[in-house]
Amino acid sequence: MSDEFKVERAIRKDIQDLVPYSPEVYEGVIKLDANENPYDFPPEVMNEIKDMLNGSMLPRYPDPQANLLREAIADYVGVAPENIVAGNGSDELILTLVSTFGSDGRVLITDPTFSMYKVNSRIAGAVTFGVPRNPDFSVDIDNLLAEAVTYGTKMVFLCTPNNPTGNITPREEIISILEGLADTDCLLVLDEAYIEYAGASSVSLISKYKRLVVLRTFSKAFGLAGLRVGYMVADSEIIDEVMKVKQPYNLNTFSQLAARVVLKNREFFQEQIKKIVKERGRMAKALGELDGIEVFPSEANFILFRPIKPAKQVWEELLAKGISIRIVSGFEVFNCLRVTVGNPRENAAFLTGLKEIICG
Ligand SMILES: *Cc1c(COP(=O)(O)O)cnc(C)c1O
Repeated sequence: MSDEFKVERAIRKDIQDLVPYSPEVYEGVIKLDANENPYDFPPEVMNEIKDMLNGSMLPRYPDPQANLLREAIADYVGVAPENIVAGNGSDELILTLVSTFGSDGRVLITDPTFSMYKVNSRIAGAVTFGVPRNPDFSVDIDNLLAEAVTYGTKMVFLCTPNNPTGNITPREEIISILEGLADTDCLLVLDEAYIEYAGASSVSLISKYKRLVVLRTFSKAFGLAGLRVGYMVADSEIIDEVMKVKQPYNLNTFSQLAARVVLKNREFFQEQIKKIVKERGRMAKALGELDGIEVFPSEANFILFRPIKPAKQVWEELLAKGISIRIVSGFEVFNCLRVTVGNPRENAAFLTGLKEIICG
C-alpha cells in the first residue's frame, strides 16, 4: 500500500506560503548588503578568545542561562543580570518574545521595517498589522496607539534606528508611545540593533515602564554576526517568563565566551564604530552630491537612497562591478536601495561604481 501522507494537507495553513530565508551568496564581491561590521576582527581579541578555549568545554552542555555573559552585558548596558536574556541572535529572541506574549494575538509593526517581526510573528501564530510610517519615516504615533488599544493587540515592534530607513525614534516619542499604551496589556519591543551607531539607548526606561523590552545584538557593531549573539533587556518579571519559553541551550558555549571577551575589549570596537560613523557622514555627503540620487538621513551603519534609474537595474549593474547592496521592497520605500557603510576602500569602490551607473 502506498503512503498517502500529503504534506500540503498536514502543514499549518497559516505558514504554508512562507518562503525560506535564502539570500543569494556572491563570491568575491564587496559585501555591503547585510549591515555587518566591515573591519577585521581585532587579532588581540581573537587571541584572547583562543586562549580561553579549552577542549573540556566541548563535551558539556552550555550554561542554559549564559550567566557570565549576562553579567558582562548587564555591566555594559547598566542594568542587573536579572534584566537580561541572551539569545541565538536577536532574531531568535523575536520569535521567543512573540511565542511568550503574542501567539493568538495581534502584533503591530511600523512599515517599512525589519522583515523578521512579520515572519517570526506568523511562525509563533500571531497576526501582524502594519501601521505605515509618515512620509519622513517617523512613527505615526496617533495611528499606532489607536491600533494598539484595539482588542487582541499584544505587542508593538519598533526599530530604532529603523532598518531600512536609518532614522531614529526620539526618546520623547518613545515615552509618549509608552504613556499611550498605559491602559493596555501591550508590550513595546524596541529593537536597538544599530544603537551603537546612534547614541542614546532607551534601556534606562525599563525601570519606569514594565511593558518595555529592548532588543540588542552583537551582530552589527561588535563583529560577531557569525556567532549569533543577541540579548533582550527588560523587567525581571518579563525575563522570568521568557526564560520558560526559550530553548534551554539556545546559545552555545563558544558564542557565550566570545561575546564576553568582546565586551571586555569593547574599546577596539568603539574605535571601529567611530570610524564607521565618520565614513557614514562622508558617504551620505557624496551620495547627496550626485545628481539623480535622493538620500535619506541615517543614524545607523547603512544608508537608504533612491536612484533616478530603476533600483533593480542599478543593483544589477553594481553587482556586475563586484559590489553587492540591498534592494528594499515596500510602498513607502519604492525604488529604494540600502547600502551598508563599509571601510573606506569599499565605500570608494561603491561610490565610483554608482557614479558610473547613474551618470553614464
Ligand atoms: C540585523 C538585525 C537584527 C538581527 O540581529 P541578529 O542578532 O543577528 O539576529 C535584528 N534587528 C534588526 C533591525 C536588524 O537589522
